[in-house]
Parts: sequence; C-alpha cells; structure tokens
Amino acid sequence: LMQLSVPLNFIGFVYREIRQGLTDIEQMFDLLEVDPEVVDKPGAKELAIGQGAIAFKDVHFAYDPARPILRGISFEVPAGKTVAIVGPSGAGKSTISRLLYRFYDIQQGSITIDGQDVRDVTQKSLRAVIGMVPQDTVLFNDTVAYNIRYGRPSATDEELFAAAEIAQIGHFIQTLPDGFQTKVGERGLKLSGGEKQRVAIARTVLKAPPILILDEATSALDTTTEHEIQSALDQVSKNRTTLVIAHRLSTVINADEIIVLRDGHIAERGTHASLLDQNGLYASMWNRQREATQAEEQLRKVRESD
Ligand code: ADP
Ligand code: MG
Repeated sequence: LMQLSVPLNFIGFVYREIRQGLTDIEQMFDLLEVDPEVVDKPGAKELAIGQGAIAFKDVHFAYDPARPILRGISFEVPAGKTVAIVGPSGAGKSTISRLLYRFYDIQQGSITIDGQDVRDVTQKSLRAVIGMVPQDTVLFNDTVAYNIRYGRPSATDEELFAAAEIAQIGHFIQTLPDGFQTKVGERGLKLSGGEKQRVAIARTVLKAPPILILDEATSALDTTTEHEIQSALDQVSKNRTTLVIAHRLSTVINADEIIVLRDGHIAERGTHASLLDQNGLYASMWNRQREATQAEEQLRKVRESD
C-alpha cells in the first residue's frame, strides 16, 4: 500500500499542475475571445525566427462566411520597422492583429513571418515571438508581480522592477498597499484602463519579443496618461518589428508606413506626409482629429483662466 501511495500522490500533484495550466489557458482564451478550433498541423515545426519580417499576401477573412471582414489585404512589415493600421471603427484593424497571432485561420492568402506560414508552425513557437499589448487588458486574479512575470516567468526581481519602470508604472506600484504583491483583477484591486495597459506593457517589456503588436486604446485616456503610455510604447518598439493599430493619428506620424483600412480593403497607404498630400480619407481623419484636439485645448485654457 505504501508503495502505491507515493505514485498516486505524485499523479495528484501532476494533475493539479496540469489543471492549473489548463485553467490559465482557458482563462486566456476566454479573455481574448479566441476560437480554440485552431490546431497545430501534424508534425508542425517550430518557427525559426530571424529578424521578424511580416508579410500579409491577399488575405481574405470572415468570422462568419456570410460577412467578409478582410477582402484581399497585402502588406509587409520589414524587420525592425513600424507599420501603422488606421481606419474607422469596425474596419478590421484588430482582426489583423488576431490573425497574425493565429487566433483564427484565414480563408484565402497567406500570413508569413520570416517566410514561414503561421499555419505551418506550432502555435507555441509563433506566440513566443510576438508580444501583444491588446486594446483591453484583462488581468489575472493574482498579484501585480504575477501579472507582469507572465511575460517571462523566469525573470528576476530586478528585471521585473526594470520592466515596470520602462512601462512607467513602477512608481504607482510602490504606492499600492502590498506593492508588487498586491492582488489585482476582478477579485482584487481594480486598476484603471491606463494602469492595466501599463501592466500589459511591462509584461511585454519582460518578454522582449522580436515582434510587437500594439492595439492602442489611448482615446479613452486623459492626455497625460496618453503621453506616458506613448513614450513607454516608443521605448518598447524601438528596433522591433511593430504593427501598431492607432486610434489617435498623432501617434503614428513617424511610422514607416501607414495603412488606411476601410470596409476590409486598403483604401490608402503611405507615409504621414504622402497621405496628407493625397488629401483623401487619411487627410480628413487627420483634420478632424486636429480640430478636436484644438477644441479640447481651448476648453482647457478657458477652464484654467476661470
Ligand atoms: P476594428 O478593430 O477596426 O474596430 P475589428 O477587427 O475588431 O475592427 O472588427 C471588424 C469587424 O468584425 C466588426 O464588424 C466586428 O463586429 C466583427 N467582429 C470582431 N470580432 C468578431 C468575432 N469574434 N465574431 C464575429 N464578428 C466579429
Ligand atoms: Mg479594434
């Protein structure tokens, strides 16, 4: 009997470990609204990452066959460069980031990283090279430290603190009741949208991936927070292949290419200056946002002089 109890205990331990792992994965899938149908090909190879060049070729995609979302999208993000995707809400911008991460499979065309189709490599190796700062960060019901370390569980305390500094949230964490050991998430301390986003940035800094996807949700933040987050993001994306989905056009002026998406098509593309010259959709979006910013500033001045 003694002989049997050890292995049984051990199995119990392994089972709990596996359950815990599954719970986290299931939780991740829930959080990210992912289709768990996507599976590795039999004998799928690990992605052999080089400089992290991304290519979308004639990509067609629909969540529901009756309603196409992307209708033939082609673009490249050369290694180390930054490409921005802008366009009206519902145009399919976030969908592009989900497809690169292979949360869904496309119906036509190809998506490659360093020449390897994302469908031909293991999901684990694919996701290991991509850091994603999503639009809505949902935190695990665990400590701040756990939530940041999730990016690289083996990171030392020093690396953890440094990542928090770069994400401009280190100082804030120190003011929390238990510092880095403070419990956050639905069942812990609720953080603001900007704070959660900075936790996600710190996580990504720690992961230090060759490829970055930033789905900026800065429009809901106040100007100071937005500037802080923007400078944190600029630091993280330096010398990394970066796909940025931008809501405020002021954040993409320096992108190597800006892609204007509308109704699942690329309506316009180019640098900020060339798009302004085209005087089309981008130029009108730019003018509208600039007027809104100017109005905001006027309002602030009036309030300050009261
Ligand atoms: P954007 O980021 O440009 O605002 P999205 O890529 O999030 O747009 O969405 C593009 C379109 O796809 C929207 O009409 C949206 O309603 C739809 N959509 C997004 N996610 C899903 C989903 N999981 N299932 C069905 N439709 C979806
Ligand atoms: Mg979006």
